[in-house]
Amino acid sequence: MSPQPSDPNAFREYFAKRQREMLALTRALVETESPSGDEAGSKAVVAMLAAAARTINAVTTIDRIPTENYGENLRVQAYGNGRNGAKTILILGHTDTVHPLGSLQSRPWRVEGNRAYGPGVFDMKANCALAVEAIRACASLNITPQSPIVLLLTCDEEAGSMTGRALVEAEAKRARAVLVLEPPASGGKVKTGRKGTGMFTIETRGKAAHAGLEPQKGASAILEIARQIEYLHRMNNAPGGVTVNVGVVKGGTVSNVVPAEAKAEVDLRFSSNDEGAEAEKAILGLRSYDSRVQLVVRGGINRPPLERTEQVMALYQQAKEIAARIDYELGEAQVGGASDGNFAAAVGATVLDGLGIDGDGAHATHEHILIDDISRRGAIIAGLLATL
Ligand SMILES: [Zn+2]
Repeated sequence: MSPQPSDPNAFREYFAKRQREMLALTRALVETESPSGDEAGSKAVVAMLAAAARTINAVTTIDRIPTENYGENLRVQAYGNGRNGAKTILILGHTDTVHPLGSLQSRPWRVEGNRAYGPGVFDMKANCALAVEAIRACASLNITPQSPIVLLLTCDEEAGSMTGRALVEAEAKRARAVLVLEPPASGGKVKTGRKGTGMFTIETRGKAAHAGLEPQKGASAILEIARQIEYLHRMNNAPGGVTVNVGVVKGGTVSNVVPAEAKAEVDLRFSSNDEGAEAEKAILGLRSYDSRVQLVVRGGINRPPLERTEQVMALYQQAKEIAARIDYELGEAQVGGASDGNFAAAVGATVLDGLGIDGDGAHATHEHILIDDISRRGAIIAGLLATL
């Protein structure tokens, strides 16, 4: 007996049958390079996805939203538009990649066994195709989701979402749930928590002096920075989710001069808003050990955390139950990296991230997806659309 339309196994069968078309669209997207800031590439990729969405009868509106210097964001609405105040389900992703133009030439699309390789295939062009196909799956199986669906694909996520952020926030505010199709954590685990991020620079200005003749007259800017680094790295020992990394240090002129200037760049990660606020205060409040050295700290928090709340766990639980019905154990993980999911969570939305197709090598040369995971992820995502 064939499964009922609402059974995730029906979706799985559907995606297995659509696999050829799904891979063809993915290949076309990969073969159209779209590094962040490449306007022509962005528009070409958006045009392909818009054309694919146009063939789904449940799709009500397709907006290609131009942005300065980055190309176009794409918003597709299906099953109504949510404009009458109805809460939506937001599917979130991005069309830009980190791979510079020309990467395709040295690493063209190729399929080897269960793996499909290509720049940006895992993060996240295959998932852009999958998002459109998930809406098509509902339409094809005559399933009407209870909430309007909005698919938002931004074009500058890899560059920090300067233009995409406001759109993400606006759509997240009217969403009952946000499904982020970023790549999963290893083992195909969805992401139930993402740390927030902060960036700081520390500059020290001391006093130069001859290192041999009168070193006592100098005040070393480098020694001051070194002490600050020791202090900052001790923050890593505290319980909780705060991590601090001094990733860049510059300073001094020549070895026989007490250095008058030095600079450090600091990366901060944190699991909760409270942790972030406390760490930010500590870093901005740094004081010099040597009173003769002037110390200036700039920067602050730039992405809030995606916190692993009860609502997030309930959404995960629902995805896990759908996965169990297709005999797949869907795991969850909390990770340090940030995504547009962080911005959605910060405006109060319930976010499940890392719902993309399993694979490996995001931002790397061996980037690929696992082909046999397409129908599985498709069934989980379409299953969520159908039941949320
Ligand atoms: Zn991504």
